[in-house]
Amino acid sequence: MKKILFMMVAVAMMSACTKIDPTAHECQVATWPHFCKAAITYTFDDGLENQFTTAVPLLDNYDIKATFFPILKDFENWDALAQISGNGHEIGSHTFNHISLSAASADEADNEFATSVETIEKYTDGEKCITMAYPYCVTCDTTITMKHFIGARVCDRRIEPPTPESYYHISSFCIGTESDFKSAQSVIDLFDETRRKSGWCVLLIHEIDNGTGYSPYSSVALDSTLAYVANNKEDFCTETFANLVKYSKERDNVEIELVNQKDDFVSIQVGTSLDKTIYNMPITICRPMPEGWNSARVDGANTYEITDDGMIVADIIPDGRTMDIYRED
Ligand SMILES: [Zn+2]
Repeated sequence: MKKILFMMVAVAMMSACTKIDPTAHECQVATWPHFCKAAITYTFDDGLENQFTTAVPLLDNYDIKATFFPILKDFENWDALAQISGNGHEIGSHTFNHISLSAASADEADNEFATSVETIEKYTDGEKCITMAYPYCVTCDTTITMKHFIGARVCDRRIEPPTPESYYHISSFCIGTESDFKSAQSVIDLFDETRRKSGWCVLLIHEIDNGTGYSPYSSVALDSTLAYVANNKEDFCTETFANLVKYSKERDNVEIELVNQKDDFVSIQVGTSLDKTIYNMPITICRPMPEGWNSARVDGANTYEITDDGMIVADIIPDGRTMDIYRED
C-alpha cells in the first residue's frame, strides 16, 4: 500500500476542532487534550496527612487527577499512597530524604532518585515513577535528572507554554498562606490568565487547612478552584504532571500517515519516535469526514466523536496503531 504522508499541521491552532475548515485535508493535533484551551496540574508536596484525608476526597469528587510528591523518609501512609495511585493520581519523586540537591554530589543525587523511584514503584502496582519535584525547588545537574525522569518541576511562578523550554525546569506556583495566592479567587485568576495564554499552570500545594506543614491552603478555597475547572471543562484540561509532559512531547513528535483510503474506508496510522513503554497518553486529533460521507464509525481510537459539522475528533495513543474509519451511511 502506498503511504501518503499527511500534511501535519503543527499546533499553533488553538481553536476547537469544530471551527476548522471542514474542507481541509489535514489532521489537526490538539494543543491540549480534547482541544481544551489550557492545562492545569495540581501537585501536592511532602506527603502531608491532610492531603490524603482532605484534598484527595475533594479531587475525587470532581474526578480530577493530581500528582503527589511525598517525602519518603519516615513516611507511613503507604496504604493511602497505593490507593490513590490505583485511583489514577500520580506519585512522583521528591527524592527519598528531601535533601537540597545543590549541596549533593552527583552520586548522592543519583542515589536519591534511584531509591525514591524504587520505593514508590513498590507501592504503585506497575505504575512507573517518571517525574520529580526538586526539594526546596533547588535543582541539580539536569543530566542526572534526565537519567531517571521525563520531566521535573521547579517553582519559579511561570505559566508554561504548550512546549516548555525545558522539561526539567517546568515551573509551578506555590499557593497558600506563604504566597500571593491565598484565596480561591487569586488561583482562579491565575487559571484565567493561563487560558488567555493557552498555557500550562502547575500549582504547588503543601499543607491543607490547620496542619503544621508549610503554607496551608484552605480546603474551602481548594474546593472552589476544583469546581471552577470542573465547570469549565471545555476550556481547562486538568491532568497529572506526567500525563501533560507526555502529551506535550507526543504532540510535538506525532506523525500521522494515511495508510489506506477507499470509498467507504479510511485508515490512518498514528505514531511517534518516543519510547512506547512510557509515552502512552492518548492525544487528541481531528480530521474532516471524507467528502460525501454523512456518518462514520471509528475503530482503534480510545474515544471518538463525530461533530455536527462533520469532523472526526478522536483520542488515540500514538504508538503506531491505526485508526480505521468506516462509512456508515
Ligand atoms: Zn518538599
